[in-house]
Amino acid sequence: MLTRFAPAPTGFLHLGHVVNARHVWGEARARGGRVLLRIEDHDGDRSRPEFEAALLDDLDWLGFEPDLYPTAAFRAGRCDGRQSDRHPIYARTAGDLRERGLLYACRCSRRDIAAAGADAAGGAEFLPSGALAKEEPYPGTCRDLALPFDGDVGWRVRLPSADVSFVDRWRGPQTQTPARQCGDLLIRDRRGHWTYQFVATLDDHLQGITDVIRGDDLLPSTGRQILLGEMLGRTTPAAFAHHALVMKSPAQKLSKSDGDTGVRDLRRAGWSRDDVLAEANRLIELA
Ligand code: GLU
Repeated sequence: MLTRFAPAPTGFLHLGHVVNARHVWGEARARGGRVLLRIEDHDGDRSRPEFEAALLDDLDWLGFEPDLYPTAAFRAGRCDGRQSDRHPIYARTAGDLRERGLLYACRCSRRDIAAAGADAAGGAEFLPSGALAKEEPYPGTCRDLALPFDGDVGWRVRLPSADVSFVDRWRGPQTQTPARQCGDLLIRDRRGHWTYQFVATLDDHLQGITDVIRGDDLLPSTGRQILLGEMLGRTTPAAFAHHALVMKSPAQKLSKSDGDTGVRDLRRAGWSRDDVLAEANRLIELA
């Protein structure tokens, strides 16, 4: 059994991460498995080395020791657990997909996709930030246009329209239809960044992750990751286990922007390691 803890260094470690780490290390230890640490810094705009340094530091302080890619391996420089150090692997894999005719170039912006969704369904809703209120499937606008793979284009993979069924270890039987939820998956965005769905799925496959243990917010992504994993050559999907996201109160989800839940801030406010772990346990019981 090999599972992973996979934070994105786009902010500081917070209690939501600590709860996930409790689940990840708890399962691994209970089942004689191992934990791989992966730094998911594929988003070159939002990831920052100082957040990575702080994440590593907080993990050490909390006593979460990865079996694969210990924190010292990241500090030493290039590391296979860091996604920004794996660019050649992602580029090679994308090249293979392209040779197999499974990739196409896409010039649609998020706004184009939302507008197409609005035409089809009578209204796409934007949040004040400009983000979409709900996931709109990509309608396939560029699928058969054979656009060149250069300039300001994204790369999409042609997803089969199959239903995907799996049994989540904690949430039970699930059936998802990625073609209806998200449509053809973006693997590289128009700014040249590899996407989370692509690199997480590929790394889970190449690193031999047998068990993915993460929060409920990623349950809807599981079917597409199973389908994509198959296209990337994975013969047996990982087992998935999704746990409840922790809440500050019954109505309020924890988020990285909540200063009061940052491990850094708690440390600074005089909390001990045991205080933080006890608080994570309390949140797990509440969830
Ligand atoms: N990097 C993701 C996050 O910080 C986790 C992805 C995953 O567990 O699949 O939320």
